[in-house]
Amino acid sequence: SKCLVLAQRPTGPSVIIGEHLILETATIDLEASLKDKMFIVKTLEVSIDPYLSALLRVPTFPAAYKMNEVITGYSIGVIVRSNHPDFKINDYVYGLGKFAEYAVYDDTSAKAHGLLVRKVSAGLPFSRYVGAMGMAGLTAYSGLQLAELKSGETLFVSAATGAVGQVVGQVAKIKGLRVIGSAGSQAKIDLLHQFGFDGAINYKTDDMDTKLAELCPDGIDVYYDNVSGEILDSALAKMNRFGRIICCGNMSLFSGPPVMKNLLSIVTKSLTIRGFVTYDYEHLDGPLVEELTQYLLDGRMKYSEDIRQGIESFPKALEDLLAGNTSGKVIIHLNNL
Ligand code: NDP
Repeated sequence: SKCLVLAQRPTGPSVIIGEHLILETATIDLEASLKDKMFIVKTLEVSIDPYLSALLRVPTFPAAYKMNEVITGYSIGVIVRSNHPDFKINDYVYGLGKFAEYAVYDDTSAKAHGLLVRKVSAGLPFSRYVGAMGMAGLTAYSGLQLAELKSGETLFVSAATGAVGQVVGQVAKIKGLRVIGSAGSQAKIDLLHQFGFDGAINYKTDDMDTKLAELCPDGIDVYYDNVSGEILDSALAKMNRFGRIICCGNMSLFSGPPVMKNLLSIVTKSLTIRGFVTYDYEHLDGPLVEELTQYLLDGRMKYSEDIRQGIESFPKALEDLLAGNTSGKVIIHLNNL
């Protein structure tokens, strides 16, 4: 079984296997007897998220990867051996699992990795459980709870075709809002139309202010902000009184601090600006899975995934995610069932 171990923190833009990460091969004996409360998970799909870059690079970041340890990622796997009463053979487990083709856990490490048994629905691929119904979906869902959506309002979301953005926009549509999204390529704009968004803005080629004014004739009530910076500044100028801005992420800040021209809008329009971290909303995991399973099964929600193959694809997958060279939720497929 192959796994990735942190050997050196990257200081430049690239993550290199053999330098920063070591690809280790461990022999997992599937026949050996297991100690009390041990079990073995065959990892199926691993989620690649922007914050993994910080876990690799920034030792002070909460839950940063530790040197010489197997790195982790939100994943779904199936139990192939078990001596644990709560984790049985053929159960599916979801959580912040080890980035390994096969991973061995005991009771303590299972808790430390936040593993829980996940009931899966026939008709949905396993990848959905690390995307739309994984941490990214929970992020979208939690932020939307904070936004207090009202039918008929206008919601604008940035990085709208991303793992979080596509759930934000489509859930808001289902709740009866008018939804506008921004993204960085024509292919992504086409995707937003396929998702049923009411309008889409290519922030690289369109004039943001003009296009927002055109697509949001009644102003913006909720801005779900995945990128911050200049797009946030444009949104501020179009916000309605008592509008809500949900601050989820800061993708644009990697390229330097923005020039903000419209901060006065926060005062004059009595805006609510609310940041949040998904870890505080784990109690919404059950409602998220229940609600999105329905939407995904009955076709009300589509979910675009960019699935890479094999553990070695990790550095390129992360690099492409940060650069926007992806189409939908980035996932690494490790094993078939
Ligand atoms: P995405 O799948 O949306 O990937 C990130 C996207 O950001 C890229 O694909 C790119 O798309 C866009 N982007 C990159 N650089 C810029 C830029 N300079 N300006 C505008 N857009 C840019 O990632 P996720 O859906 O996983 O995450 C979305 C956001 O949510 C991130 O900011 C992430 O950090 C945050 N997050 C926050 C959490 C929380 O607890 N608050 C938890 C999880 C995620 P494009 O081609 O459109 O530019």
